[in-house]
Amino acid sequence: MSSSDDKDLGFSTRAVHAGQSPDPATGAIMTPVYLTSTYVQEAPEKHKGFDYARTVHPTREALQKNLASLEGAAFGLCFASGMAATSTVIEALSSGDHVVCGNDLYGGTYRVFTKVFARFGVTFTFVDTTDLHAVEAAFTPQTKLVWIETPSNPLLKITDIRAIAKLAHAKKAKLVVDNTFASPALQRPLSLGADVVVHSTTKYLGGHSDVVGGAILVNDEALHKEYKFLQNAVGAVPGPLDCFLLLRGTKTLALRIERHCQNAMIVAKHLLSHPEIATVHYPGLPTHSGHETAKGQMSGFGGMISFELKGDMERAKRMISSCEIFALAESLGGVESLIGHPASMTHGSIPREERLKAGLTDGLIRLSVGIEDAADLTADLDRAINRSLTGK
Ligand SMILES: *Cc1c(COP(=O)(O)O)cnc(C)c1O
Repeated sequence: MSSSDDKDLGFSTRAVHAGQSPDPATGAIMTPVYLTSTYVQEAPEKHKGFDYARTVHPTREALQKNLASLEGAAFGLCFASGMAATSTVIEALSSGDHVVCGNDLYGGTYRVFTKVFARFGVTFTFVDTTDLHAVEAAFTPQTKLVWIETPSNPLLKITDIRAIAKLAHAKKAKLVVDNTFASPALQRPLSLGADVVVHSTTKYLGGHSDVVGGAILVNDEALHKEYKFLQNAVGAVPGPLDCFLLLRGTKTLALRIERHCQNAMIVAKHLLSHPEIATVHYPGLPTHSGHETAKGQMSGFGGMISFELKGDMERAKRMISSCEIFALAESLGGVESLIGHPASMTHGSIPREERLKAGLTDGLIRLSVGIEDAADLTADLDRAINRSLTGK
């Protein structure tokens, strides 16, 4: 099934089928993992559309079409990691260009912006993108991009995609949305006015914590050409087996996300009513500052929660080490539940003052709620909270 003729089909159907058709040689229903670096040509420049595997690869093509269909994009490009996809978008800029970014971006995004691309003369301003005035004030005549994450990491702040897109376009800048936390099952930024969507496919799209990958999705053909040129020129392409694993992952995306959302809502409400919990950040809670905006641009609230336990940082560390089902690990979006401490783990590369300014406190705990039985998850958290009290 090609991505152009599937517009009338539902999301789950496209997740299973888009970009994939039975192998013409054998009828194999699953897309073959073409372990090849080159293709035989009939005559110089006379070939079946495939010349070299960095440039074009059939398993990757299938994945690119599948992801484009899910984001409602005309074009998709896949990369070796989320960071490779992110870097490609910045590689399209030139020295002197400026980017307005959210101030609680993924730690690795902050790192590559400030420690790599800043050396090449691209400048970045980090602001609270939930504050439209702050975003507007950050523009300079050199601003080419606005870069947001919503829900953000790890505070689950919600940025109004439509409003930021309008603002960016009025200033002749493009809006990039890192849609990793929501996944296209819950939020499709291109339909809300964004120009570029980037993903770490390592997370919900893969869904099983067994592959690292990234993607860029766009509707604009000129932008697509530019990023495709960079995909080939810079060469951060994914391997064929990784593409296969991601194609397998997206088939169950809709089902998995439904369960992630259900479980996260149960866990968030449970934590909110727990006497040992100080604050809970989950956009599905009416108490969350971005709840109304989230309702206007997402079809569900996702599987990520962050919260603060009462007491000091040592207690938070004891708690996260005491879980039995929630595994203490970086990353998110897999079927299994994970627990982490952003200040020392995922966001360790952000200076402490910067972190505190963004509200990312030392005691903050982040959950990636998996698809296990919700009762087992809440019982595991209760047990760990009790153990953190007694120190046992
Ligand atoms: C993980 C992540 C990235 C980076 O992706 P990798 O696949 O680890 O390179 C970027 N953005 C967000 C929001 C992420 O969670």
